[in-house]
Amino acid sequence: MKTEPLYLNDSYLKEMDTEVLEVLPEGEGRFRIILDKTVFYPMGGGQATDQGKLEGENWTREVYQVLNKDGEIWHFVKANIPPKVGLKVHGTINWDRRYKNMKLHSAGHIIDFAMHLLGLSPKPLMPLKATHDKNPHIVYQGTLTEDIKQKLEDKSNELVSQNLKFTWYFQSLEDLQKEAIYLVPGLPINRPLRTLKLEDVGTVADGGTQVKNTGEVGKITIKSVENIDNAVMIHYSID
Ligand SMILES: [Zn+2]
Repeated sequence: MKTEPLYLNDSYLKEMDTEVLEVLPEGEGRFRIILDKTVFYPMGGGQATDQGKLEGENWTREVYQVLNKDGEIWHFVKANIPPKVGLKVHGTINWDRRYKNMKLHSAGHIIDFAMHLLGLSPKPLMPLKATHDKNPHIVYQGTLTEDIKQKLEDKSNELVSQNLKFTWYFQSLEDLQKEAIYLVPGLPINRPLRTLKLEDVGTVADGGTQVKNTGEVGKITIKSVENIDNAVMIHYSID
C-alpha cells in the first residue's frame, strides 16, 4: 500500500498535510486519488466511509467516499479537472460523521465483548460479520434457545459504565492467536495485525477506528435478537 493509514494509529486525527501520488478517472466528472498518507477511513470492516475535503493550491474538492480497492486507499472526488500528481493538499474529515461511526463501531465491539462475558461467544455463537452504519447489527453463527436481549443490554451498558480503556497495537498472527478471544478465518499471515484490547476483558483482531473509553459510546440499546436460519442477528443502537 502506497498510503500511510494514519487512522490506524490515531482514531482522533481529523486532518493531515499530504501529497497526491496517483489519479485515475472514475467516470464522468469524477476522479479517484491515492495520497501519501491519510486520516480518511476507507469503508470496510462494517464501518462506513469517511467524507471530507481536500484543499490544494487552486484545487479544493469534497471527498464523497473512500474505498480500499486493489490494496490501495482511494479518495473519490467530483471534479472536472483532476489534481496534478505531486500537488500538496490539506485533508480534513467530516468529524461529526466519523465520530458517530466510530462510536457505533466501538459499541458493536462492546456488545461482542459482552457476548463473550455472558459465555455466549465464540461458543456456542461464533461472530460472523457486523455492520455499524445506519442499520447497525452483528451476526453470529449458531442458534439461541433463550431470550438474551435484556441481559445482553445490561452487560453491554455495564461495560459502558465501567468506562474501560480501548487500546490497539500491531503484532504477528502467531502472537495474536495466543491472546485473541477468537479470530475470523483468512487473516493475512505476512504482516503485523492490528489488535484491539478492551481493558480487563480481552482482545480481538480489528482494523477500524475506535474510541478511547467505553464511556464515550453512551447508552447502548439492544433493539432485537433474532434467530434467522442458522444465525443470530442482533440489532442495536446508541443514543
Ligand atoms: Zn471492528
